[in-house]
Amino acid sequence: MKTHRFELTPCPTCGYTMDSASSLNPDDAAHPPTPGDYSVCFECGELLEFDADLKFRKLDIERCHPVLLEGLLQLRRRLLQFNKRHPRPPRK
Ligand SMILES: [Zn+2]
Repeated sequence: MKTHRFELTPCPTCGYTMDSASSLNPDDAAHPPTPGDYSVCFECGELLEFDADLKFRKLDIERCHPVLLEGLLQLRRRLLQFNKRHPRPPRK
């Protein structure tokens, strides 16, 4: 899994800023995020999409394929469970 860095970008829901992403698809791991790619906020679990400027916007779940949406929801559940077990100190 390769991690790609990008400009610090806030989650539109909670404001948590992220500057990197990793693809879960091994066939796509070498490619940096592109507009329309999906993501999940590491803090609140919001389902996100990269816009044309590679900033985050809330994912329009009506446009998301059901199988892909289920995968994102599973990822969100695991992420929120992890955050609950391993709380991080608040950022300044
Ligand atoms: Zn968030």
